[in-house]
Amino acid sequence: MISKNRNALTTRSKCNAPPRSLSNALLTICRAPAFVGICGTDLHEYSNPTFIPSKERPHPVTGESMPVGFGHEFSGTVVEIGSKVQNKGGLKVGDHVAVQPTICCFQCPSCEQNFLNCCDKGGFVGLSGGGGGLSDFVCVDGSFVHKLPVNVPLDVGGIVISSGPRTMFV
Ligand SMILES: [Zn+2]
Ligand SMILES: [Zn+2]
Repeated sequence: MISKNRNALTTRSKCNAPPRSLSNALLTICRAPAFVGICGTDLHEYSNPTFIPSKERPHPVTGESMPVGFGHEFSGTVVEIGSKVQNKGGLKVGDHVAVQPTICCFQCPSCEQNFLNCCDKGGFVGLSGGGGGLSDFVCVDGSFVHKLPVNVPLDVGGIVISSGPRTMFV
């Protein structure tokens, strides 16, 4: 594939950053990729970025701009859980999970009413910064990590989110 803007995609090695501090609240760290979907959005963003924040306008939540790590439809294995994570799902290290790539501010009127997909500053892991499924590790909000049932393998888990309601996911 020939891209008009090669800065839109980082290489795997550039994304191989160590996990963020585990002291951060609400953060769960997943090893990725297990499986990563590449969808039409990725192809469009690779050649003609629109979601990926520019250098002039970094993403308001992540503060990042291109190049960003790709991969917003992925499964992984939990490798660490932050000490302050509100672990409502009872996640454990080693769990196989699907990651909902939502990035939101948790502070705007939409977020306060739990319409997180309508966040004024919304974005997506793998498009708006925050790493992505093509990173070796990615640190995401624990509330967006969904444990896979034992009869759902990681390859299927990688497409769970992309097959969800289109109002929630890309
Ligand atoms: Zn918000
Ligand atoms: Zn997609």
